[in-house]
Amino acid sequence: VSGKIVVFNEDWVSYGETVKYRDYAAANAASYGAVATLVRSVTPFSLNTPHTGWQDYNNSVTKIPTACITPEDAHMLHRMYKRGAKLLINIKMGAQHLSDSVSRNTVAELKGILSPDKVVLVSGHLDSWDVGTGAMDDGGGAFISWGALALLRKLNFKSRRTIRSVLWTAEEIGLVGAFAYAKRHRDENQKFTLLMESDEGTFNPLGIEFGGTDQAACVIQEIVKLLHPINATNLERSDNIGSDIMVWANEGIPRASLLNENGKYFWYHHSDADTMDVEDSENLDKCLAVWTAVAYVAADLSIDIPRK
Ligand SMILES: [Zn+2]
Repeated sequence: VSGKIVVFNEDWVSYGETVKYRDYAAANAASYGAVATLVRSVTPFSLNTPHTGWQDYNNSVTKIPTACITPEDAHMLHRMYKRGAKLLINIKMGAQHLSDSVSRNTVAELKGILSPDKVVLVSGHLDSWDVGTGAMDDGGGAFISWGALALLRKLNFKSRRTIRSVLWTAEEIGLVGAFAYAKRHRDENQKFTLLMESDEGTFNPLGIEFGGTDQAACVIQEIVKLLHPINATNLERSDNIGSDIMVWANEGIPRASLLNENGKYFWYHHSDADTMDVEDSENLDKCLAVWTAVAYVAADLSIDIPRK
């Protein structure tokens, strides 16, 4: 590949599996002398929409230009290659890396009435990629995490513990806001009883995805049973919960994310198609209901949710 533009036409398997190409293609190809890389967008479905996203450069090799192309264009290049055509690609890119500037996490809370120093955290991220409007990634998650507090306040519901809403900044470029929060508020790690983040869509909600001990999952299972009227009583276990709240993955704090019918999430993710049209207001209201009920009941339990 030395001196060539390398095109990656990887098949979609899952986001976690397939995103490795977008993340590491440039650094790997550069180590073999490639001059640029083009990577098939990481999506299971396309209407000729390229998807952007984070990618990693490696300081030990030359930083070469890299861009995502649509699956349709990747397929076309592959067909041309197979029939022996000589592919000549001229890449023109306008992207530039601007210098860092100040941005902030947005924090609001409803103080607990009995144990205000103990905290259930609900969160989503405020930033999005420059394509689309970021309505789904992560406008929906930010909305329900802010809305949960607004709704509880409107209902005048007060909980034993504090419910804190954090709308993270700069998630997309590497969880910058979450890392800054964790560093500055290290003393709070013992005070978090549950960390929640919605960053995988706000489609029809099904329940909660949860990471924690069996005893903790038992408690959360009882909470999601309350969501029977909107048919969102599922509890799925996973060790891979949230994006920003992954920063606390080794602290043994129970973590939860919104389980929803997000089979089409990566159709829109990081593309021009991530607009308000993706959001359905009835589903969004139901997601808000799940998020608010779980945060409130968890914050008002008579016992702390068991930690690892
Ligand atoms: Zn996101």
